Amino acid sequence: MQATLQKIIHVDMDCFYAAIEIRDNPSLAGKPVAVGGLSPRSVLCTCNYEARKYGVHSAMPTTKAYRLCPDLIVLPVEMAKYKAASQRIQQIFHEFTDLVEPLSLDEAYLDVTDSPHFNGSATLIAKAIQARIFAVENLTASAGVAPNKFLAKIASAWQKPNGLFVIRPHEIAEFIKVLPVEKLHGVGRVTAQKLHALGFKTCADLQTQSLIKLTNRFGKLGQTLYEQCHGVDHRIVNPHRERKSVSVENTFNYDLKNPAEHEQAIIELHQKLAYRLQTINEVRPIKNQFVKIKFNDFTTVSAETKSGESNLDSYQKLFLEAYTKIRKPIRLLGLGVSFSKALLTNDFQQQELFVN
Ligand SMILES: [Mg+2]
Repeated sequence: MQATLQKIIHVDMDCFYAAIEIRDNPSLAGKPVAVGGLSPRSVLCTCNYEARKYGVHSAMPTTKAYRLCPDLIVLPVEMAKYKAASQRIQQIFHEFTDLVEPLSLDEAYLDVTDSPHFNGSATLIAKAIQARIFAVENLTASAGVAPNKFLAKIASAWQKPNGLFVIRPHEIAEFIKVLPVEKLHGVGRVTAQKLHALGFKTCADLQTQSLIKLTNRFGKLGQTLYEQCHGVDHRIVNPHRERKSVSVENTFNYDLKNPAEHEQAIIELHQKLAYRLQTINEVRPIKNQFVKIKFNDFTTVSAETKSGESNLDSYQKLFLEAYTKIRKPIRLLGLGVSFSKALLTNDFQQQELFVN
């Protein structure tokens, strides 16, 4: 398989929101700190490494986090502050290339294939970006350098925090062989379980399968799995990517069977979506809200309504509308919003405001 080689850097801020809070209040250093909702049913956005030692992680219900770590300091979300820091960090990226694709406030892909900086050394550019971010923001970032997007993203997580990991073209084959399948783009917890059950633990295991076998078994994902297990990813860094929708979903360990469980799940997903929406910093207005339900017999239903916001009551109504059609135990629940199309000219104006 022929791979298109690019020089991609994936930069990911370390525990971004928590790191900003600790930077601004040094007495928090060394203590377990999280940022998130404080109400009984809300979830955490981010936590630092001290908190992670207790098993606390992002998207965990705050009450559960307190049970695991009673000394946890949970701070309220100060989104305006995080957005301001994010914009300054984006400007640093643009000092090195205009091909920047932000994934959220704290993460971006950069294509430096044709960058004139450091004689085109992506590794030195990544180091310089980390140093600039630290000098300007007093925050650490981890960076991954690789010939494509999915490997760059894996690389940035390889030596977190404050890490730099490089996968050179000639190292891909060795690196990929031992890579666990759950690290692949598009493989969530449930797909990972399915792959494990079939005996596919690493990319080397997947490499034994033909493209046809994988697409027969996994549909569209089969093609992605086939390419990725050979170290290939043709996606380009797209600075003008338009997001059509944002959604969150949960596949439950046990099927949900009663209204109280349904309600709790909807509330938690609504919170999670609220944080996602703040994080992605989308400028276009919301057009629709939708709900997706997958029952234990794998029947899937959905419902959608026109809406200018992500409203909890509307999700509950949509849920009932969809649920009533089948009324079986629920395996998966998803909530989301879609955005109205902004005029292209507006997009460019936004882009320019952002860069300058
Ligand atoms: Mg991060």
